[in-house]
Amino acid sequence: MKEKNLTTGLTSVEAASLLKKFGLNLIQEKRRTPLILQFFAQFKDLLVIILIVAAAFAYIAGEKIDGSIIIGIVILNASIGFIQGYKAEKAISALKKLLSPKARVKRDGTEILIDATQLVPGDIIILNEGDKIPADGHILEDHDIRVDEAILTGESVPVRKDSQKNKKIFMGTQVTHGNGQAVVMQTGMHTEFGKIARLTSETEKDKSPLQKELIHLGVFVGKITLVLSLVLFLIGFFIQGRELIDTILFAVAVAVAAVPEGLPATITVALALGVQRLAKENAIVKQLSSVETLGSTTVICSDKTGTLTKNEMTVQEIFLGDYDVTVRGIGYEPKGGFSVHHSGAKEKVSPTSGRGSIGLASPRLGLLEYFEFDHENQKKLTKEQPAFYQHLELAMTTNILNNNAKLVNKDDTWSILGDPTEGALLTAAEKAGFVTEEIHKKYERIQEIPFDAGRKRMSLVVKERATGEVLAFTKGAPDGLLPLCSHMMKGDKMVPLDATLREELLKRTDLMANRALRTIAVAYKKISVPNKKHYEEKEIESNLIFLGVMAMIDPPREEVKEAIKLTHKAGIRVFIITGDHGLTAHAIAKELGLVKSFGVHILTGEMLDKISDEKLLDFVAKGQETIFARVSPEHKLRIVDTLKRAGEVVAVTGDGVNDAPSLARADIGIAMGITGTDVSKEAANMVLADDSFKTIVTAIIEGRTIYENMRKFIFFIFSSNIGELIAIFSTILLALPAPLTAVLILMINTLTDVFPSLALSVEPVHKDILERPPRKTNVRIMEGAFVRRFMLSGLWIGLTTAAVFVGNLIANGWSFGGNVDIESTLYFESATMAFVVLTLLQMVHVFNSRSETISVFKMKFFENPSLLAAISFSIGATVAIVQIPFFHTYFKTMALTWSQWGVLAIISFSMLFVEEVRKFFQRNYATARISS
Ligand code: ATP
Repeated sequence: MKEKNLTTGLTSVEAASLLKKFGLNLIQEKRRTPLILQFFAQFKDLLVIILIVAAAFAYIAGEKIDGSIIIGIVILNASIGFIQGYKAEKAISALKKLLSPKARVKRDGTEILIDATQLVPGDIIILNEGDKIPADGHILEDHDIRVDEAILTGESVPVRKDSQKNKKIFMGTQVTHGNGQAVVMQTGMHTEFGKIARLTSETEKDKSPLQKELIHLGVFVGKITLVLSLVLFLIGFFIQGRELIDTILFAVAVAVAAVPEGLPATITVALALGVQRLAKENAIVKQLSSVETLGSTTVICSDKTGTLTKNEMTVQEIFLGDYDVTVRGIGYEPKGGFSVHHSGAKEKVSPTSGRGSIGLASPRLGLLEYFEFDHENQKKLTKEQPAFYQHLELAMTTNILNNNAKLVNKDDTWSILGDPTEGALLTAAEKAGFVTEEIHKKYERIQEIPFDAGRKRMSLVVKERATGEVLAFTKGAPDGLLPLCSHMMKGDKMVPLDATLREELLKRTDLMANRALRTIAVAYKKISVPNKKHYEEKEIESNLIFLGVMAMIDPPREEVKEAIKLTHKAGIRVFIITGDHGLTAHAIAKELGLVKSFGVHILTGEMLDKISDEKLLDFVAKGQETIFARVSPEHKLRIVDTLKRAGEVVAVTGDGVNDAPSLARADIGIAMGITGTDVSKEAANMVLADDSFKTIVTAIIEGRTIYENMRKFIFFIFSSNIGELIAIFSTILLALPAPLTAVLILMINTLTDVFPSLALSVEPVHKDILERPPRKTNVRIMEGAFVRRFMLSGLWIGLTTAAVFVGNLIANGWSFGGNVDIESTLYFESATMAFVVLTLLQMVHVFNSRSETISVFKMKFFENPSLLAAISFSIGATVAIVQIPFFHTYFKTMALTWSQWGVLAIISFSMLFVEEVRKFFQRNYATARISS
């Protein structure tokens, strides 16, 4: 490795040629199950086996066409199931690619963020806490860097890495602590990880609760079908004394009618379409099953920074002992300046006074000294305000040194690379005329104690090159940092910190926090024992000199206000869980309309440590407005656990490494796509591409809609199946052959019903879905009222179909007790009419199924164009099967006359009447409303 490359990285030309040589930094994913096995897995289903057995019986009974069609349908079904499953899996892995890790590398002397796939050997990468290591390499520089290598070694205790003894790092492992730089040695399949190529992505195979419920239901239906078919066979053959072949075909028809053939594929498609819709809304769901869980969310635990706020920090005020500074200029552009009030001065008014005071007293009264400066005229401070300058220099040096962010100017737009809080601190220092590179040159970095969300501070030990003095600089949450300070700086003086002074300082920060400002305190000290390679935390973070507080704004996200209103309407509770100051969080929450001004509880991490689990349970269960502030990730986990114990369905956001356990424990773990660490993204079920709270709410509503729509088509499909069974059973009572042949039943179940079902799955959001409390997760779809509903519709469908069948027989001379030959034209005609009326009843029923309570006449007819297209297709298919002679041999159908079609169409509208009456009663007399 060339020496030059270590500081500047590769040039883009070098990188491009290396990329050609070594290829993309990718692990070729091994297909877990061969496609053919995935296809055959479709045949494991009990219901499918029943169909295959039915086909075998049809063959035995000499009905080769029936048998072949059943087999054809089984294969078609398996293909649909397989293709849909495959497509869904592909769609999810494509979405996952959107989350593919980025790498921070040095190229052409600057740090840039690139897709990890573009890494090449020789690249210098910058590693931070939470990063997934993107390639194999060697550590060049480290600050207490620790790496979780469990994925390779199984050892879950993170390993300390350094540039000497233990410098090798491996792709796929994760930085759990610290930061540093490394040089890439191997990429892609040449890495250790590539060699074993064990890509773990099993989770998306997880089935949703609804899918599991349906699998159980499938087994149940399967068993019932077997028993029914057997009983019918026995009755028909032994009691009624019918032909063996007739009874076998009867049993086959029953088996086919009872099995909802089209359902599994429809559910997979509905979920997969849902996942795609969510992706469009910026919510990337990693498992199909999460879509459903999302819909039942009752509580959202949200971070503040970045989720409720923009995470665009600007230091606005600085408190430096006797000096109160207002910082001018917004964003990361280092332009603006400082306006300073010196409250400790004697009467003296500078000529530039009169601009925005901090509010202690008006400068015009002459009580305060006031002056302004910016990066151009900063140097004059050394003469005019030497005491202030000395204080300011130390504070700004802390800002610059204790910082891993970088200001980037691209096409005259300023942005940052790294943590926005640190970016804001850098910008402030630059606005005050301190140049980052110059400060870095003055000091040699010796040791860093990185920031972590538990400690809420970061420290740095440096050696001043000119004097050889060893200094410690610390920045962090003021309430945590103050106890570590023994003195405070006031201009060029040092004042011991007593209890009153500490109290006063905390009050000052509270006042800032109350105005939604995020506060970071800075402190420093000289370390008396120089020239050590490593200092203990206690040696660094004790007896510090308090320099002051930087207060930054982080404006709330505009779109969140609307989203919060929706959560209120939808009965979803929102808890803020933040590492920030409670008052800052409260001020933001108030601005967003999340909490009221009074009666809000702010529970801090410290308080949480003191209260028992039972009390916390009591607290969260009561639904009080609560902000959890200054909490650590461990507290977060405890809150999530407690909420789950209280029976809530919890969605939790997180971005840090330590958030991973909470994300994994939550029902829906939500990671931040922009600011989130790779570790958090991996632990989450859903990733927000835009980090916004609004997207969570949109996703929940989408989840509710998808679930609701699945209920709609399950209702629709089961009405049809029950209808078919009832039609068959009613004719048994009359000792007649089945009104529908197995083949026609299959046509309905897999052709004419499937497209309207799919169209129901994309029904638009109905307004009242947002105004209802969340669904209870323990209530299954197949609960009493739901079953009664499809039984009623099924009963009507079945009886009407049977009536049409029998009616046509009677009209053609048949009388009760008479025989009907299943090869006769009369039977073909009657069965065709039964098939047509059942299909048409179902087509009318699609409209009924759009809502559980709302009248068809109150819903917009053209709202769902897919529905109209699907119905047109199904009716078209029915007409074709009936009217085109080619199909007659296969389906045993017969062409009907216009008047027959007309009569059947009129009869089918009775379906509307039945459901309208039921809906009327449900709307007016039912006590509990379940759904729209
Ligand atoms: P949320 O959890 O809502 O996103 P947050 O981002 O404010 O909140 P943390 O990042 O854990 O939570 O920050 C908690 C506190 O730690 C902040 O209020 C601040 O005082 C301090 N802090 C934040 N970032 C840094 C940093 N880079 N260096 C030192 N202290 C920091």
